[in-house]
Amino acid sequence: YNVCHHTYASSILTVPKCPKVRRQVYVVGNSEPRENIGVLDELIDARDEFAKTMGCRSYAEFAIRPNMAASVDVVMSFLNDLSDTVRHKADEEFNTIKDFKRRVCNDKSADLEPWDEDYFIGMMKSSAHTVDPSVVASYFPLSQCIKGLNVLVESLFGATFHQVPMGDGESWHPNVIKLSLHHPDEIIALVCNFSSSRGLTARLNHCDVETLFHEFGHALHSLLSRTEYQHFSGTRVALDVAETPSNLFEFYAWDYRVLRTFALDETTGDPIPEKLVKALNASRNMFPATDLQRQVFYSIMDL
Ligand SMILES: [Zn+2]
Repeated sequence: YNVCHHTYASSILTVPKCPKVRRQVYVVGNSEPRENIGVLDELIDARDEFAKTMGCRSYAEFAIRPNMAASVDVVMSFLNDLSDTVRHKADEEFNTIKDFKRRVCNDKSADLEPWDEDYFIGMMKSSAHTVDPSVVASYFPLSQCIKGLNVLVESLFGATFHQVPMGDGESWHPNVIKLSLHHPDEIIALVCNFSSSRGLTARLNHCDVETLFHEFGHALHSLLSRTEYQHFSGTRVALDVAETPSNLFEFYAWDYRVLRTFALDETTGDPIPEKLVKALNASRNMFPATDLQRQVFYSIMDL
């Protein structure tokens, strides 16, 4: 449920100093082999035919039908309104980034190219807020993050969970851990996979902490649902509603009041400094209109 592909491509684009290399990364990253274009056309036609066979006017209508949104028009007008609302602010942010580039490159007429945006945004963020990802990660050993989730779950919902041994042949790697979440009435298994070679001592970067909290929101949604029929339970609800509890749960990963209870330095045991959490939040919120415009673009493409 958590798409990080774009984040990955963007984070690569924040690195190369040479504009030619950035351009190359951007062009290759946004290209498809020519022979795929015909396949894509066939797929679009097949999707359209499928949607019409199912009694819909378009594939977008078919895709929206199981969701809460009433129609394609409602979704499009929501996205267009959102885009109109932030357009002015997004233009301002674009000019701020362009001015920054002009100062850095000492070129008063430089344009901001598509492959420049992530690079200069990264530069502006790191010059405005000191957020060293490895320092941040030192406060998030996986074992502490799991303790943090336990504190939250127990205080919010009166549920607890703990690590349980893996059965024979149950996992694909010895570092995979299995957590069992208990509630007075139900038991659910949550299986997460984070890249690490050190099992429980793995340190999560903040993006991973956010993902862990997000996925945990899904687990809680399933665990705490009280419905008569299983097909209206937990994540089996309409997809746009299914993401709501997990999206809300993500906010705890940004809240100092929560982080200070479990984000502890491995050696000193000191909680994560409030200043660092503020810097994380400030860095994330530097270009809100640009971020939102991007999401609107993906949503429209998805339709
Ligand atoms: Zn999700």
